[in-house]
Amino acid sequence: MNYTKQIQDIASKLFTEGKIDIFIGYQQNSFDDNQVPVLITDPAEIPKLVFSDKSVFNLTNYLKFEHTKNKRVGLVVKGCDSRSLNLLLTEKQVKRENLYVIGVCCEGVTDDNGAKAKNCEVCVMPDPVVYDEILGNPSGKKPYRVDPDVAEVAKMPLVERADYFEEIFQNCIRCNACRHSCPLCYCSKCCIDQETSTLYNGSNTVSSAVHALLTWSMHLAGRCVDCRNCEKACPSHLPLHLLHKQNEKVIFENFQEHLSGMIADDRGAFYKYNQKDPDDFIM
Ligand code: SF4
Ligand code: SF4
Ligand code: SF4
Ligand code: SF4
Repeated sequence: MNYTKQIQDIASKLFTEGKIDIFIGYQQNSFDDNQVPVLITDPAEIPKLVFSDKSVFNLTNYLKFEHTKNKRVGLVVKGCDSRSLNLLLTEKQVKRENLYVIGVCCEGVTDDNGAKAKNCEVCVMPDPVVYDEILGNPSGKKPYRVDPDVAEVAKMPLVERADYFEEIFQNCIRCNACRHSCPLCYCSKCCIDQETSTLYNGSNTVSSAVHALLTWSMHLAGRCVDCRNCEKACPSHLPLHLLHKQNEKVIFENFQEHLSGMIADDRGAFYKYNQKDPDDFIM
């Protein structure tokens, strides 16, 4: 999967035609073979742009910041990224007319060790669901599969499972990089943010981490698109997908097979309220 040339050409055309102020793409890291996001305002910098199976980050996260708000932005999205874009549009966080979206039919990205990323193994939608221009050949929606790590954890006896999660929470340093790197966490005053929190008073204890991360995962329930930006940002390398994928499973099974951001203007699982819901589970 290499779309470097096509993306450079499209970005160049967009600047030349005066259609964008900023282009958000990927550039090569300066110290290893990984890539990092790049925001380009000067067309002279277009040769920096690359796209390959190392283009892992979800660039829609940069649409929530002041320097891109109300600007005309060109950006690249893979399938999972485009689902978060769909949600940002539905939640009125971005204006569609301000965006030029290059959608890539994704063949999967790789992790730091060169192996296929774990979220790609269970990806339900590698094709972009919102775009102005599409690169590659769509391969279509895939059947939903329970995340193998979630299935493994479910097999643990309760005490062992509790210990396992306690160890995860113990290693959280409350840096909030997870929530800052999530495109769907855009609240200007976040209830788990240490500086502004009225709920968790900034303490760095296991119990504050439990409250913060569980609250956070609940705010993403029915919205998380499994891009794993949050996990990539976590300095403690915590398996945060266990929280989100468990929520996704419960929601898929109980809310009419809901999957986040697949459909434009879909307002999410909690709008799928049914008066006949037996209410026989607790997330
Ligand atoms: S989760 Fe799907 S769309 Fe996202 S990078 Fe992996 S294969 Fe591509
Ligand atoms: S919670 Fe993590 S995986 Fe889910 S959308 Fe946000 S960054 Fe992506
Ligand atoms: S954790 Fe909740 S309050 Fe904080 S930014 Fe995310 S959605 Fe908003
Ligand atoms: S990024 Fe990791 S260490 Fe930081 S708050 Fe989130 S889970 Fe905790």
